[in-house]
Amino acid sequence: MCHAFVSDSRFYQFLLRLDQDIAMEVQERGCPCGGVLHSARYPRKPRGHRSALDENYEYRLSFCCATEGCRRRTTPPSVRFLGRKVYLGVLVVLISALEGGLSPSGRRQLVDTLDVPAQTLWRWQRWWREVFAEGPGWRLERAQFIPPIAVARLPGEWLARLRGADLLERLVRLLWLIAPVTTPSWSGSLTVAPDPQNL
Ligand SMILES: [Zn+2]
Repeated sequence: MCHAFVSDSRFYQFLLRLDQDIAMEVQERGCPCGGVLHSARYPRKPRGHRSALDENYEYRLSFCCATEGCRRRTTPPSVRFLGRKVYLGVLVVLISALEGGLSPSGRRQLVDTLDVPAQTLWRWQRWWREVFAEGPGWRLERAQFIPPIAVARLPGEWLARLRGADLLERLVRLLWLIAPVTTPSWSGSLTVAPDPQNL
């Protein structure tokens, strides 16, 4: 299976544009206090295919309320950064997916190239089962699947069963579906959605 996109800068540009669209929607809605949101992006040092990433990947898009006395931070959902995990979200999904994603050799190669420690892999598996699967996002999503997807098979079986023409489309869709868990400071539903035509 071809997975050239994981080292292709165009793929990361696509995810960046999606993050920017999401951020714009969040900014337009403003702070819960009614205040205007100003850019307050913060630095990140993501691990991944660094050569495919431009300087935009050094920052997580975020906002701060301009109203004196509020100053609340609002960080939009992201399809690039999976919370505080140091590896890019796409890698956390692909490498954690034991089915429906890369071939076993493709996956092994990615783990070796990016030098992901075994203990990190184990932590990610635990995160899918014990954090993600317990959250409201998965409660909604899992209802869509009959027969149900066993928690122990996250995220691979989910990735395999999502709609999409190929792995890339299914992966982008999954990143978009999990984006709400990437931020504790914003909740709601987005009208922005990935358009596979732009991939
Ligand atoms: Zn505010």
